[in-house]
Amino acid sequence: TLPMVNEKDAQPMALGYVADTNKADGKKFPKHAATQKCGNCTLYTGKPDAPSGPCGIFPGKAVAAGGWCSAYAKKA
Ligand code: SF4
Repeated sequence: TLPMVNEKDAQPMALGYVADTNKADGKKFPKHAATQKCGNCTLYTGKPDAPSGPCGIFPGKAVAAGGWCSAYAKKA
């Protein structure tokens, strides 16, 4: 299993990554919505029911399925 992305590391911080989408900074990211989650982001490659999985933005690490960052793009 991949190590989890740490919210406090520089790159995740710069992208506003949070392991819980409900904790996203709505002032800084007004387009954020609670329905946006890593699990339904186009950059996420985790299995449908897994609690976490890989993200193209963070090679070698896993993001929480319920997480979020400002690079979010809804899966088609
Ligand atoms: Fe989550 Fe998508 Fe951001 Fe990756 S790019 S951390 S999957 S919201």
